[in-house]
Amino acid sequence: MSVKYLVSACLLGKKVKYNGESNYDERFDYFQDKGLVAPICPEVLGGLPIPRSPSEIMINTVLNKDNIDVTENYIQGASKTYQVCMDFGVNKVVLKERSPSCGVHQIYDGSFTNTVVKGSGITTRFLQENDINVYSNEEIFKYDAIVVAAGKSERTHLKYNKIFENCLNRSCIQAACEKFLIDIMCNKVIIVANKYDIPVLFIICF
Ligand code: SF4
Repeated sequence: MSVKYLVSACLLGKKVKYNGESNYDERFDYFQDKGLVAPICPEVLGGLPIPRSPSEIMINTVLNKDNIDVTENYIQGASKTYQVCMDFGVNKVVLKERSPSCGVHQIYDGSFTNTVVKGSGITTRFLQENDINVYSNEEIFKYDAIVVAAGKSERTHLKYNKIFENCLNRSCIQAACEKFLIDIMCNKVIIVANKYDIPVLFIICF
């Protein structure tokens, strides 16, 4: 499958945070394994090292805790992130909430006192100004899909459940599930099936 979303690298387990750690979220594992997401770290792309002094936004200036102005690194990181979106041909990104680069709805207030305010990071602003859809990691995985597939196919006179019929080179059940499986808003897909169909479902779905 091709890449559909760029995701903050720290959420995918990359140790790129200011303190050399990650914000690993295992719910992205499926999307990583299927090649649906690619990692992006705007601060590293902007030339900042790992580890680095933490930074916060003061109006439109980004200062690190040592009082050094790193705004230019953040602007460069935003612009390079946009370029990576173009290279992959994607217009959807999932970014880590509250980061001075990646925050979507909230950031820290610039006082280094752990105070959160409404606002967005430098990369988020730049991407949104350039028509990229930016989602917070805290607003995805919103729904569960239930696919009902326990019929007996009596009307079709098939000797097997019609969910296994061919539908454009895959089974009907695969066709019914695939939109959900590549949607990062979908937390899980639950298939309601007859118990004797379950072994076949395992083979074709996993
Ligand atoms: Fe994670 Fe974004 Fe910070 Fe990089 S800039 S460590 S991707 S939150």
